[in-house]
Amino acid sequence: MAPQTSTSFTGTLFIFSAPSGAGKTSLVKALLDCTSHIGVSVSHTTRAPRPGEENGKDYNFVSVDEFRQLIGDNAFLEHAQVFDNYYGTSQHWVENELSAGRDVILEIDWQGAAQVRHLMPDAVSVFILPPSIEELEQRLSGRGQDSAETIARRMQDAQSEMSHYGEFDYLIVNDEFDNALQELRAVVVARRHRLAAQQVRHQSMLQALLAARD
Ligand code: GDP
Ligand code: ADP
Ligand code: 5GP
Repeated sequence: MAPQTSTSFTGTLFIFSAPSGAGKTSLVKALLDCTSHIGVSVSHTTRAPRPGEENGKDYNFVSVDEFRQLIGDNAFLEHAQVFDNYYGTSQHWVENELSAGRDVILEIDWQGAAQVRHLMPDAVSVFILPPSIEELEQRLSGRGQDSAETIARRMQDAQSEMSHYGEFDYLIVNDEFDNALQELRAVVVARRHRLAAQQVRHQSMLQALLAARD
């Protein structure tokens, strides 16, 4: 079989948004475990690390001054204030991954999603909803990593975040985890099989299949 030239096509940028606690991070982790050629962008944030979070793995944890410096250096593809902290996506890392033909997931809020959609109209965006407000609150407290005050703040902002669901291409309800995971994976896999990408990926095979026979 002809070798696939993975550098000759560009990966897809996926934007996943959800209110805090809907299950975005758990779904992305499970999606990465069962899908190749895809990675998640590690954002910069001024938020304090939660117990167990690792610098450089979960987030790049920076001070407000360092964050401002990065804005000044044009290091961010997008950045936004979420709750009381700043979050931003590294432009350099994302562009490198996409041009190497790998898909990239951004786990970002609706403001960042709007900025990226504007800059990269081919990005595929997915909004993830919890099945109910009560379940969202239970998940936030069940995660056991945020103070009651932080949880209250996130619950307060959840409805405003969810009011933007209509700006996204796909909507997934994370009720039963495995169903939501399969649905999310279906979006990624379907996007990879679009004609334009398949034509590049399978160029030599298509040529061989369609070559005139003697
Ligand atoms: P298989 O295609 O099921 O045998 O498994 P692979 O691990 O080779 O590919 C899994 C998925 O990744 C398929 O949907 C391919 O279309 C897609 N794929 C393969 N190579 C690349 C690549 O370099 N970049 C991107 N974005 N997708 C790829
Ligand atoms: P987010 O990244 O959106 O803030 P997390 O992935 O941290 O959310 O999930 C919040 C909590 O909810 C975690 O404790 C996670 O294990 C749990 N959770 C995620 N999805 C489900 C689900 N479908 N059913 C029950 N609990 C879930
Ligand atoms: P958390 O502190 O729970 O990890 O994230 C809080 C919120 O910030 C979530 O709604 C998440 O989508 C958003 N967020 C995380 N990383 C980024 C980022 O790089 N850019 C933007 N705009 N939002 C982000």
